[in-house]
Amino acid sequence: MKTAWLTLLFVALMSVVVQAASRPAAVQDLRYSSDKEKVRIVLDLTNTIEYRDLYLENPSRLVVDIQNAILSPTIKKEFLVNSPLASRIRIGQFNPTTVRIVVESSSEINIFFLDGGPTGYRLVIDVIKVPTKPAAEIKNPPSTDDDKAKLEAERKAREERERKAKEEKERKAKEDAERKAKEEKERKAKEEKERKIRLEAERKAKEEAERKEKEERERKAKEEKERKAKEEKERKAREREQQNSKTEKEKPTHTYPTQPSTPTNDVDVDLGKLMTLKGKVIAIDPGHGGNDAGAIGPSGLMEKTVTLNVALELEKLLVAEGATVIMTRHTDKTVSIKGASASAIEELQARCDVANRAKADIFISIHADSFSNPSARGTTGYYYSQTEGRKSIQLADNIRRALCEQIRTPSRGTKPCNFYVVKNTDMPATLIELAFISNHEEESILGSIEGVLKCAQGIFDGIEDYFG
Ligand SMILES: [Zn+2]
Repeated sequence: MKTAWLTLLFVALMSVVVQAASRPAAVQDLRYSSDKEKVRIVLDLTNTIEYRDLYLENPSRLVVDIQNAILSPTIKKEFLVNSPLASRIRIGQFNPTTVRIVVESSSEINIFFLDGGPTGYRLVIDVIKVPTKPAAEIKNPPSTDDDKAKLEAERKAREERERKAKEEKERKAKEDAERKAKEEKERKAKEEKERKIRLEAERKAKEEAERKEKEERERKAKEEKERKAKEEKERKAREREQQNSKTEKEKPTHTYPTQPSTPTNDVDVDLGKLMTLKGKVIAIDPGHGGNDAGAIGPSGLMEKTVTLNVALELEKLLVAEGATVIMTRHTDKTVSIKGASASAIEELQARCDVANRAKADIFISIHADSFSNPSARGTTGYYYSQTEGRKSIQLADNIRRALCEQIRTPSRGTKPCNFYVVKNTDMPATLIELAFISNHEEESILGSIEGVLKCAQGIFDGIEDYFG
């Protein structure tokens, strides 16, 4: 007896490991009970066992295979269960060492061992309700109206999702097409713009070429005109000489050159124009002088020097054309007799007085511009708009234009002003700003012999245009 109890204790401790492996367990009975929460199946065993469980479909069933077990022949093989959790329980000898229990159910199972009972060991299979996931819906085809409605709703939801996905795809395709069309449009617009810029550049290049050609023609015509004028002058000088020798001396022994080599009718055409400056009284005012240097360029060039250099060259050109030139100064000095002690107005009035006394036909005050920003450049013609009607503006404009052509400066326009010398002279008057002495490039023009000659030529051309 005592030995039997010890054996039992041993069995309890070493059940699975030792005894299950050695002696098959007999399945002596199967009982079940059911309530709302579960269906409990209890098997009476004579030993511990090992098992495996699985789930099979059609119909949905839970299968538990008990290994190393033998089914008692007295056991009932099938039980109909009146429960929503399980409909039928079957048990059988699946193979010589396996007893199989099948529960027709779409629920889940919970399996565990219990000691005790009529044969010492029990295996409990609980078929339990799954609250969150109704088994019927997942594991069985729809059987109720509710299920059908639910599936229908799901189908509709799916269709709706598919429809939206399709719409989204179409929308993106449309956007993509619109974007591409926009890009294409922009590309074409850019090309068109570039084409126009190219055409414009070509047009300008052509105009520039034509302009140069025209200038070259005009230059040649002018040279020709000057040559003829010179010849004409020489011819007249010879005539005078002849005349003088005839009147002053009666020396028949002397012989003189006869008529000029160039026939008179060759120069007739241009003579009228050539003579436009003959007899004209032109007052030239080289700005600043003496103690007043005017503006000073970055390299130290003084405005008073530039204005005098240009004025002296201009004087030569005008005199050569038969004009009478009145200079406010011929040297580096002030014009007022008060010299350095003269006020600014006195000095400027002195310049006006020179021109007014001489009853000059026009007055030209020569200056160079200056500005704090060294990039400022160009040529400006100034006039006083309150007197002389359009004559002063015409004089200023003719000179400014011709200057720009000669020294290639940008035009800053012909502008009205209040400068003293143009306001207080009686004749058409202009104050001309040749270029910016404060601009490095333009300073070097004004400081060069070539630049000075061109400035003089420009003013001269403007005067000729004015009287022409
Ligand atoms: Zn000045």
